[in-house]
Amino acid sequence: MSIANNLQDFNSKVPNTTTLVAVSKTKPNQAILEAYNAGQRIFGENKIQEMVDKHAALPKDIEWHMIGHLQRNKVKYMASFVSLIHGVDSFKTLKEINKQALKHDRSINCLLQVKIATEDTKFGLEFQDVSALLTSSDYKELTNVNVIGLMGMASFTDDLKQVRNEFKTLKTLFDNLKSTQPQFNTLSMGMSSDYEIAIEEGSTMIRVGSAIFGARTYA
Ligand SMILES: *Cc1c(COP(=O)(O)O)cnc(C)c1O
Repeated sequence: MSIANNLQDFNSKVPNTTTLVAVSKTKPNQAILEAYNAGQRIFGENKIQEMVDKHAALPKDIEWHMIGHLQRNKVKYMASFVSLIHGVDSFKTLKEINKQALKHDRSINCLLQVKIATEDTKFGLEFQDVSALLTSSDYKELTNVNVIGLMGMASFTDDLKQVRNEFKTLKTLFDNLKSTQPQFNTLSMGMSSDYEIAIEEGSTMIRVGSAIFGARTYA
């Protein structure tokens, strides 16, 4: 199957209320262009430098999403163009994004990454920290970030019931926060292995890499 075929297949399966982020990390510009020529405009990367290089080389109407863990000292390199940052897991990082957004006189859309997996290798805020952050007075002073929702990664397991439960708890948190956060419109959950379950559990944005571009040689 070609990248274009894979994308077509995806777009026919996925409801049009679900946004597809094509995760192009480690993949060459040629592969991204192939997806671009098939109509895909949203791409996800997990390393800031790699995304900066690809942004410079590729068509300017691509929307770049940062899906990886953030190194605060590198936020400045993507602040002029990044369209959504999925992996915000501390107030300090949010504050740095705000600072860099201000320099470019723009507002940057962000998602708070919530820890839903049982493994402790996954980054993310604990449930109670999410609402604490959103209601803090420090947060209210950040004029140039727009937190539009949540992101989560399920456990790496064959137990699909567990995966479903983890997505369910994130969706519940999302719905609860919505009452005080009317700007919440994005729930980013689901990857190649579990996007179908994620969509059933209310995901509005899936991040799919290998099912579109083929297996990666490194993570
Ligand atoms: C790599 C990555 C994905 C995509 O993974 P696939 O299994 O290739 O679909 C999704 N989300 C994050 C945060 C990733 O780092």
